[in-house]
Amino acid sequence: RAKDQGRNTYQFYTEGMQEREVMRLELDKDLNQALTNNEFVLYFQPQLDLDTGRINSVEALIRWQHPRRGLLPPGDFIPLAEESGRITDIGRWVVMAACRQLAAWQGTPFEHLRVAVNLSGRELDDDALVDHIREALESEQVPPERLEVELTEEIFIQNIERNREQLSRLRQLGVHLAIDDFGVGYSSLGYLRDFPVDLVKIDRSFITEVTERHDDAVITHAVINLAHNLGIRVVAEGVEAEAQLDFLRHHHCNLAQGYLISRPIPAVGLEEALGKGRLVAPAMSHSEL
Ligand code: C2E
Ligand code: MG
Ligand code: MG
Ligand code: MG
Repeated sequence: RAKDQGRNTYQFYTEGMQEREVMRLELDKDLNQALTNNEFVLYFQPQLDLDTGRINSVEALIRWQHPRRGLLPPGDFIPLAEESGRITDIGRWVVMAACRQLAAWQGTPFEHLRVAVNLSGRELDDDALVDHIREALESEQVPPERLEVELTEEIFIQNIERNREQLSRLRQLGVHLAIDDFGVGYSSLGYLRDFPVDLVKIDRSFITEVTERHDDAVITHAVINLAHNLGIRVVAEGVEAEAQLDFLRHHHCNLAQGYLISRPIPAVGLEEALGKGRLVAPAMSHSEL
């Protein structure tokens, strides 16, 4: 019996694994076509400036309009693209699309907006990355400080010397640097001293219960103070409740991003919402509107 069970379990796993492997291969093949067929889109999630109550920046988040599977979130294909190396081309597309959007906003009521793009550590390995970003900015005539690059702490664990070089080249270009998902990366704090960081984004996992858990409140408060004392601005990710926003304002966090303010939306939706003044924080709309 034990033997049978063992065999069944084995079969169960192989079938599951085969299925997943087939799906993966299929998706990888589709990914190859996605760039040619222009199937990627950028959604934009606004960041609320807590000093002014205004939206001065947005984060670009990639989506894949898959011909059969519908709109796919990055979690469904970015890890695969990182494995296969296709992430380099996707990253170039993202940078170019962000620059095109910034160019399209010139001369409109949205020309003050800054756009943050996400790059994975794997993309930083690309020697041509910085040149590509420079060329994209130049060809679209976008001032470099309009563009922000978000990287996670993984880049401070491996390839440190090389990554430092890449980051300072980016910074020299005038592009702003943000550390994404701050606090969950198991890396040392020394990099805040050694790297040219403009912003840290406190990971959503600290914000979700920041008004209920003493430890999350202490960590969030400490990160804000640490960053400010180093001349670094702070974004809170994943703000979903009014009470969280109050906490963040009270502790002088600079920016808030999350479903409370807006979900990530296509550019047209963003322009419409901004145009109607709909993207202000609820508590501010009473006093300021
Ligand atoms: P991230 O950069 O940390 O982006 C924040 C993620 O949290 C986004 O998920 C966003 O939709 C989600 N989010 C924002 N506010 C809230 C909230 O209040 N509550 C909750 N529950 N979630 C919130 P998304 O768009 O699925 O992106 C997931 C991750 O995929 C991103 O995490 C980023 O690491 C990666 N990613 C997105 N776009 C790109 C890209 O163009 N290139 C690369 N390399 N990675 C990307
Ligand atoms: Mg991000
Ligand atoms: Mg994040
Ligand atoms: Mg994240």
